Amino acid sequence: MDNKALFKIGYGLYLLSVLDNGRDNACVTNTLIQVTSSPCLVTIAVNKQNLTHDMILSSGKFNVSMLTESAPFDIFKQFGYQSGRNVDKFAGRTLKRSPNGLVYFDENVNAWLSGKVISSTDLPTHTLFLAEVTDAEVLNDEESVTYSYYQKHIKPAPTSVSNKKGYRCKICGYIYESDVLPPDFVCPICKHGAADFEKL
Ligand code: FE
Repeated sequence: MDNKALFKIGYGLYLLSVLDNGRDNACVTNTLIQVTSSPCLVTIAVNKQNLTHDMILSSGKFNVSMLTESAPFDIFKQFGYQSGRNVDKFAGRTLKRSPNGLVYFDENVNAWLSGKVISSTDLPTHTLFLAEVTDAEVLNDEESVTYSYYQKHIKPAPTSVSNKKGYRCKICGYIYESDVLPPDFVCPICKHGAADFEKL
């Protein structure tokens, strides 16, 4: 089996925001899929290691904001490459809220939706949430960003790694300095698995 075939699947990139116990958090995801239009249902898979995951399980609600091609790398660093357990990702930002009380984003974003969880399926590394779309709004007609566009045009080219040996995460650039990459290794920064690492 050639696992690279799976890299040919097209994905969008989204900001997933949550509110639980009076606390906001958000992360970057590529796993939003609309599964039916009537009723309007979506699925989203969230890694169990993410704080956002526990907050959706607890609150049963989330918002998704659709990122556009104008999104700078800083947004992906701010919301994708650090954990809400360690930092307040919203520090210094003016927050806008949808009627369900959750934050949505309106910069470098062309639309948002609100999801209410109907069921959750426990998978080894993720929980797959099935949700009803309870609200949604289009903000502008900018082009939605795809994962492929992000890789080609937004993510900076890898810097020189002349003196480092090991494996580099192709998603975020994290380097695991070792001769052997364990097959169950998970990137501590972006939570992607060993399949997304390349040998230096
Ligand atoms: Fe990574």
